[in-house]
Amino acid sequence: MLYEEQKKIVFEAAKKLLAKGLTLGSSGNLTLRTEKKGTKMIGTPSGKDIEDYMIDDMLVIDFSDESGKFEVIEGNLTASSETYLHMAIYKARKDVNAIIHYHPVYSTAIGLVLEDSLPAILDDQVFFLGHPIVITSEYNRSGSTELAKHISEVINKTSLAIIIRNHGSLGFGKNMRRAFLSCELLEKTAQIYFMANMMGKIKFLDEDAIKMGKSIFKALK
Ligand SMILES: [Zn+2]
Repeated sequence: MLYEEQKKIVFEAAKKLLAKGLTLGSSGNLTLRTEKKGTKMIGTPSGKDIEDYMIDDMLVIDFSDESGKFEVIEGNLTASSETYLHMAIYKARKDVNAIIHYHPVYSTAIGLVLEDSLPAILDDQVFFLGHPIVITSEYNRSGSTELAKHISEVINKTSLAIIIRNHGSLGFGKNMRRAFLSCELLEKTAQIYFMANMMGKIKFLDEDAIKMGKSIFKALK
């Protein structure tokens, strides 16, 4: 079996995502680039509950084709419908080697209300997620090439998460552990934003704090 160790990393992250209540059923998908700046990834399959995943279900997907197509080169199941979305991010961000797309409660809820981006409210938000965290501006159907195209247009180089309006969120990073941190921190930040907003007027981070936070992010990411 090719890439056995990397398949294990994707498999275990998927199980953890489910165990932590960050997604449910067969929702969400995770990928890991097989080598830095490479055009192959390990990906979770479509149409199977995460609870039932086996390590062998993890697919090896080649996306080197310049025309934008991909090919499953190892594995018996179908690739996730969001494979185009993952490809778009890997092509736009050479520094990203792991991507988690999930359907969490708070960041998805915030994406229904706020426009453009999640405001900077916390130090650790800016240190580890970067800024700004984009909220997609238009609705695109899940799994569509239009959604992937839209993500490639709005993705920036200064953050490790995106909220997809009417759908879910994305967390990514240089490796799977970092991508998982992005997912957890995005959801924690969104939850705090939600709670604070219920209690009163939010005090946002000022420009100096954001600037300092962004330089720390750059050094840490
Ligand atoms: Zn989704």
